[in-house]
Amino acid sequence: MKIENLYPGAWGSNCYLLSSDSHAAIVDPSANTDTIVNHLSHKGLTLDYILLTHGHFDHIVSIDTLRDKTGVPVYVHEADLLLPEDAHKNAFYLFFRMERQYRRPEKTLRDRQILRLGEENIRVIHTPGHTAGGVCFLCNDEFLLTGDTLFADSYGRYDLYGGDVTVLFQSLRDLRNFSPDLTIYPGHGESARLGDALDNVLY
Ligand SMILES: [Zn+2]
Ligand SMILES: [Zn+2]
Repeated sequence: MKIENLYPGAWGSNCYLLSSDSHAAIVDPSANTDTIVNHLSHKGLTLDYILLTHGHFDHIVSIDTLRDKTGVPVYVHEADLLLPEDAHKNAFYLFFRMERQYRRPEKTLRDRQILRLGEENIRVIHTPGHTAGGVCFLCNDEFLLTGDTLFADSYGRYDLYGGDVTVLFQSLRDLRNFSPDLTIYPGHGESARLGDALDNVLY
């Protein structure tokens, strides 16, 4: 599986393009929709999934325009299903004191669900704590997209709607079950080795 970062997305979020043969998934569509669509057509890729690591405003900027343009549904963990439509729950209001509404995602994700991308697998790992429905995506046992659960040298904040510090740290400890040599691709900032990133936040 290939991964490319269409950074910068809005507000400095990473927007990842996963591909396997001619099949593609966008994880956290924070980049401009035209940029994403042009990229897909330039590479001859068919978009199969629009995936969210969680429902915060800085990761969902293009979900409506991208699904309108491609007809591809949006997937989010069921515990974050109502975040895009509610600026208070997705933190947009907190930052900008304005309402903004996105449409509800069509599909929900469950822990351990496997999504097929071409001939390869994306496994959903529920890692609540930053939000209640935060997930990581394990791609073919090669790399892990960690959203705002785990960054190269820190972890996500837990003071927003649905956040819980105890739950977040349990999720981080659970990531020790995966190979420390996996590369992580976080929702913000640089990629890192999983073991090193966990060593930075767990004592
Ligand atoms: Zn977030
Ligand atoms: Zn974020």
